[in-house]
Amino acid sequence: MNTPSTELLLRVNGVQAAFGIELGFASPRADEGRAADPYRQANVSYSLVQRRNGEVVRHTLIDVGMGVVPSLLEFEVTHDVHVVHEVVITHPHFDHFAQLDWLSMALLRNCRGDQPRPLPIYATEPCWETGPNAIFRYLAERSEFRPIQFGSVIMLGDVLLTPFAVDHGPKAPGASGFVIQHGERKIVLTGDFLHVPDKDDPLLSGADLCFMDANTWHPADWTSHQSVLGNLRLIDKWKPKRAYFVHYSGYEDMERDDDPINGPMAMPRLRDEVRGISDGRDLRVAEHGMILGNTVEWPE
Ligand SMILES: [Zn+2]
Ligand SMILES: [Zn+2]
Repeated sequence: MNTPSTELLLRVNGVQAAFGIELGFASPRADEGRAADPYRQANVSYSLVQRRNGEVVRHTLIDVGMGVVPSLLEFEVTHDVHVVHEVVITHPHFDHFAQLDWLSMALLRNCRGDQPRPLPIYATEPCWETGPNAIFRYLAERSEFRPIQFGSVIMLGDVLLTPFAVDHGPKAPGASGFVIQHGERKIVLTGDFLHVPDKDDPLLSGADLCFMDANTWHPADWTSHQSVLGNLRLIDKWKPKRAYFVHYSGYEDMERDDDPINGPMAMPRLRDEVRGISDGRDLRVAEHGMILGNTVEWPE
């Protein structure tokens, strides 16, 4: 057990699935997105910020898909987070690394002395080779790829990051989830996934928080994603104090015309439906910009 000298904040930089709010699409979720702030959309991403005496000493960014850099600009204004110490990529899908180009160039251009250069990028070798390094060939010139291995702990200041293998289908080689430990606090991020091959690993159990890919309400295995209902079995197995659903789109639920939930739901209904199945568990829907340890309390 490490004894941290820092406090940990976890910001959800974005919650959107691969295709965000669909242009031209008639659904309560798309209507809600258009009516609120259509610019304030970002793919699922997390910032782990370690602060000492209120000063940011380390910022670890996990995934940087579309809309994430604008979300970080917002975070910069609200919490003075001006640098990124390292980027961690869960898997080689564009909605998880699209803005690495923008981010890495911005960090070069900002000329800040406290910005590590070259920018460290952690990913599995297959993820790096089929994703970022295949799309942004020049990325290697302004970053330092650091290959990760499942089960091998990475120390990032007071944060211990342990990658675990997830199955997110054949188009996502090297896909990874992460266990984050900071002192006694434990957080599980599944990343996009359908199955966790080593789901019995005790490391995954008893976390404070678990963030889970819930691309649809109903199970839809052909999408290689998990669903709200499909996740319940893992939640009951791992027993986190609280579980958050992310990456919700609900699009494939339209095939369930025999079910009351048969398409993308807007937030109020999604929250209600989640409450309806919670059965004593603390189940929530993650929201853009929420910050655990700051705007939202950690679980007791
Ligand atoms: Zn995704
Ligand atoms: Zn994916």
